[in-house]
Amino acid sequence: MKPIQILQLYPKDMNLYGDWGNTLTLQKRLEWRGIPVEVVDHNPGDSTDFRAADIILGGGGQDAGQAAIQADLLAHSEILRELVADGMPMLMICGLYQMFGRRFLTGEGTEIRGIGVIPAETRAMEARLIGNITLENAEFGTIVGYENHSGQTFLDAGVKPFGTVKLGAGNNDADGVEGAWVKNLIGTYLHGALLPRNPQVADYLLSKALERRAVTGDLDELEGYSAETGLLPLTEVDQIARSAH
Ligand code: GLN
Repeated sequence: MKPIQILQLYPKDMNLYGDWGNTLTLQKRLEWRGIPVEVVDHNPGDSTDFRAADIILGGGGQDAGQAAIQADLLAHSEILRELVADGMPMLMICGLYQMFGRRFLTGEGTEIRGIGVIPAETRAMEARLIGNITLENAEFGTIVGYENHSGQTFLDAGVKPFGTVKLGAGNNDADGVEGAWVKNLIGTYLHGALLPRNPQVADYLLSKALERRAVTGDLDELEGYSAETGLLPLTEVDQIARSAH
């Protein structure tokens, strides 16, 4: 079968606190199942076919990194909007989560424009929100991570958050919720990296990618792969990953 393609957005400028580990986790969880995978990077100025991706990932960055990628991201706003609407799974961490919203007003008073795929706005506040963070989510259970952001994000009414904050701050210091969940796009402040620490979220993204492929008739083939590989059941892999922390 054609490899599952993971597209990493702006790994040169947007890759704080090990966010690249999210890519590695998805790659490994596909390999462990015998499913072919390829990773493609998109940096400013690259001509990349976003439609060829199965999953799109983006990491966090300093305000300067966000400014550096702004023009290129805005140039891809239409295609990203189309792919989110089509159900492509995506994970946007921190700086790129903010930029999938409408805008980020930095502490210096500059505006970093976003693509508005997530109905939300972000404003820098005096206190940085830093530390370990724990969320509860009805589908995924407990989610753990680390946050470090000056921007505080405010979701428009009715936008589904990623989780309810149990420990830490989350989107801002008032609402008690964290992240945003729009179709199969998750935006979140959680570094960690997120996916190695929360493999159930990794498998959610992978299952959505495979579901989208099923439309083109690949799913049977994938089921064949997983039955034949004889690899460790994923639950055991998860246990090993968790006990290593
Ligand atoms: N620069 C942004 C902020 O401080 C995002 C930070 C990050 O990605 N960790 O809010």
